[in-house]
Amino acid sequence: MPTAAEALNPSVFKRCESRRANLTSFCGVRYSVCAVPFAEKALISQIRRMAGQPDKPGRAGGGARATRSVLTGIGDDCAVLRLLPRRGQQQDTLVTIDFTLEGIHFRRDWHPAESVGHRCLARGLSDIAAMGGEPVAAFLSVALPRDLPQSWVGRFVRSLISLGENFGVTLAGGDTAESPDGILADIVVVGCVPRGKAVLRSGARPGDRIYVSGELGGSAAAVWQMRKKPKRKLNPREYPRHFYPEPRIELGRVLREKGLASAMIDISDGLSTDLAHVCEESGVGAEIESELIPRASVGKPAREVDLEFALHGGEDYELLFTAPARKRVPSRIAGVPITHIGHVTRERKIFLMNRNQIGYELLPRGWEHFRR
Ligand code: ADP
Ligand code: MG
Repeated sequence: MPTAAEALNPSVFKRCESRRANLTSFCGVRYSVCAVPFAEKALISQIRRMAGQPDKPGRAGGGARATRSVLTGIGDDCAVLRLLPRRGQQQDTLVTIDFTLEGIHFRRDWHPAESVGHRCLARGLSDIAAMGGEPVAAFLSVALPRDLPQSWVGRFVRSLISLGENFGVTLAGGDTAESPDGILADIVVVGCVPRGKAVLRSGARPGDRIYVSGELGGSAAAVWQMRKKPKRKLNPREYPRHFYPEPRIELGRVLREKGLASAMIDISDGLSTDLAHVCEESGVGAEIESELIPRASVGKPAREVDLEFALHGGEDYELLFTAPARKRVPSRIAGVPITHIGHVTRERKIFLMNRNQIGYELLPRGWEHFRR
């Protein structure tokens, strides 16, 4: 194993040109230090082919000319994006970034590679949805352990790309490194929204109604099942919201376009935590009714999840939004059920009302890294 100084020495550089990858370690992450060790180069070529950008030298943009917005994708030092006006409107650029870490967000023995790839991109797409935006391009950095089967990587990337295709998103670049331990993936999603129209967390006002899309708690119920019986594999079809969550892009876009949502967030950490984010950013409080919260049905035979899962379970990737009381919000938008669960208050606290209209303060008990 060369040191960093040795790696910069031309004689080491030459040795690196052999098929054996020479690696060094900076801050615990092992980066390839030679020009392009074959393994990394081959992997990037494979990803590039899967992304529909074959590396034919000499073609414009290195063969990476992909879509209207992505002028140059995988294959150059930078991707070149051009976000043109859409439907006659100038656009602002949205950028979001999310880690997917083995042992934190997934386990290889619980989650098929396809689910990990899908969820990795879905997290980013869901953030774009929560701003009322449309996704354009994604960038994927991966650090992979040396002994990871190539087939795992193929299934992971294929699933991620195929979810992107459903939403017109091009995989336009990334980075690839060796990980000393466990799989790390980091996704950047770039999107656009008409100038000045992004729906923020900070727009909720006292008197606004609070709504959620879809059903909550299905993802947390799957995690609970897997924790309870770690050896038993769950059938992803019985827990689709956990294994293959559907980013609510179309719903977010319609809410923004029709001017319905005053504030919006995606429920990634759990209703109690994400509602608290909206309240904090908007300087308001909220009252929600336990009876109104739509709970997911999971398993076989399908059973409604406990209220606790719907209140505090994360990773459902539904949208939570507020709307002025005078606005008529349909009960279904873009094919997704919309449920009115409460209203925004002036007092900066969140209360959960039970069926007897007795209120309990609802503290954020969703997911938070580093919390003990
Ligand atoms: P550089 O050293 O200039 O960063 P790389 O050799 O790392 O270039 O990458 C070559 C090309 O492949 C770049 O266009 C980069 O964005 C793309 N790329 C690298 N890793 C990935 C990946 N995991 N997913 C998608 N594109 C990738
Ligand atoms: Mg790179």
